[in-house]
Amino acid sequence: MLSGKVALVTGSTSGIGLAVARALARNGASVMLNGSRPAAEAEGLRAAMAAEFGVKVAYTSADLADAASVRALAAAAEKQLGVVDILVNNAGIQHVAAVDEFPEEKWDQLIAINLSSVFHATKAVLPGMKARNWGRIVNIASAHGLVASPFKAPYTASKHAVVGFSKAVALEVAETGITCNAVCPGYVRTPLVEKQVAAQAKVHNLPEDQVIRDVILAAQPNKRFLEADDLAEFVLFLCSPAGAGMTGAALPMDGAWTAR
Ligand code: NAD
Repeated sequence: MLSGKVALVTGSTSGIGLAVARALARNGASVMLNGSRPAAEAEGLRAAMAAEFGVKVAYTSADLADAASVRALAAAAEKQLGVVDILVNNAGIQHVAAVDEFPEEKWDQLIAINLSSVFHATKAVLPGMKARNWGRIVNIASAHGLVASPFKAPYTASKHAVVGFSKAVALEVAETGITCNAVCPGYVRTPLVEKQVAAQAKVHNLPEDQVIRDVILAAQPNKRFLEADDLAEFVLFLCSPAGAGMTGAALPMDGAWTAR
């Protein structure tokens, strides 16, 4: 379905980004991986994915907190794989603290990775997409792009901003063959979240299944983690020919979190 297309997926050495990269590669796209894993591990991942799916897979360890590195990542994708047809802005970080105690350098880092990298990567790949009159931009926002939680003000602000940015870009390119959407997941089972379960179980002195239900998934009515692979299939749909008419949308996949 995506044979001949090239995808750049930020933060794709673990969790949702890795699942998305694998789904795109399985469907024939060449993929530029990016993330902050040790070089040998990243190379192992790259080689294994290329062998499993028979597509070109490259890796660049750009730090997305730095604008010049984001631009270099997009340039590396175009140099090594030819073009960028699909951009999945996935990399993101979280830091939980009250606003009046939130470290200022954490705010800067979180906004740089969660929001500014989305702008820099989109700006870098749009001219090529416009020239070919085809492109897919998928921004992994969050349920926190639509609603808020206490102690997550910077994360909530960054994800609301990503939703707004996605809508504005979609309007700018609406008459072209380029789409731009924000995906808004609830809690997805990733290494990041599994660590939180263990930590919260310790803090509350509760069994892990109770922590999942009553603490972590307190706001998520279906009381089940989403799977990264299910989210990847959703992203795949947006990148497919059938996704051509879906643009400018903030799309929840959140177990009814934002239905309230
Ligand atoms: P994860 O921690 O498993 O993966 C994050 C990826 O981003 C990794 O590959 C990491 O190497 C990369 N990354 C982080 N900082 C980077 C930097 N400065 N430069 C380059 N790469 C960097 O996280 P995840 O749970 O898979 O989350 C992925 C995205 O989905 C994030 O934007 C997150 O906000 C969003 N999200 C996650 C959940 C969830 O429950 N897991 C829910 C909603 C939204």
